[in-house]
Amino acid sequence: MSVLEIKDLQVSVETEQGTKQILRGVDLSIATDEIHAIMGPNGSGKSTLAYTIAGHPKYHVDGGSILLDGREVLEMTVDERARAGLFLAMQYPVEIPGVTNTNFLRTAKTAIDGEAPAIRSWVKEVRESMTNLKMDSSFAERNVNEGFSGGEKKRNEILQLELLKPAFAVLDETDSGLDVDALKIVSEGVNRAKANTKLGVLLITHYTRILRYIKPDFVHVFVNGRVAEEGGPELAERLEDEGYDRYLAGTVVK
Ligand code: ADP
Ligand code: MG
Ligand code: MG
Repeated sequence: MSVLEIKDLQVSVETEQGTKQILRGVDLSIATDEIHAIMGPNGSGKSTLAYTIAGHPKYHVDGGSILLDGREVLEMTVDERARAGLFLAMQYPVEIPGVTNTNFLRTAKTAIDGEAPAIRSWVKEVRESMTNLKMDSSFAERNVNEGFSGGEKKRNEILQLELLKPAFAVLDETDSGLDVDALKIVSEGVNRAKANTKLGVLLITHYTRILRYIKPDFVHVFVNGRVAEEGGPELAERLEDEGYDRYLAGTVVK
């Protein structure tokens, strides 16, 4: 079993108006086989947490740590993070012109495993995953995310997740912009990935809708760069009924 521990994480960015502190001491611990939902209003710092775990250079860590089985993730390069077992699906997946999906997946798999996957079983696996995600086979030879619709990009992220088999996946608003059918397909992909390998999931979302399909073990509510409240799945149900108003009104103070 692996553990990803975020401890007192403080993160800022440089803006034209000066330094802006975004994360103000985030504590979160997640083990493989657990699903943690991070919910919160817009602008509360959810994507900043994802970018920081990913190692985006814009986000400066002013304090705290991110440990993966005791190893400091913040000292790892982006590649090392992937090899260590971290997978990040961003709110806005990037396009990679000139690189086909097939080549990208194979290169990433090879880099992560340290050896190329056996070609026949790999091709079969890619095909199966694409079929499961209801992706047309033409997506294999298209450039990564180039000209993909929002929903197609999200499916493509889950395709990567299924094939790369990380220990931890951070999924930032994988549900945004999806219609109900696509949401189900994407959710089933995440659930399959978790069933097939040992996977811990940090599911970042503004809405409770996806949590009907991907059942969280823990729910953390982010407000103003901090975890304002934590609980089990019942907390998500409460948020579905009440929204975030009571946090923003300052009635919940940690
Ligand atoms: P969320 O994902 O919860 O909506 P974000 O992490 O995207 O929140 O943003 C948190 C706050 O930090 C917002 O006020 C946002 O405008 C600001 N912020 C995030 N990234 C940057 C950046 N690169 N430059 C300036 N401000 C940023
Ligand atoms: Mg704290
Ligand atoms: Mg966001």
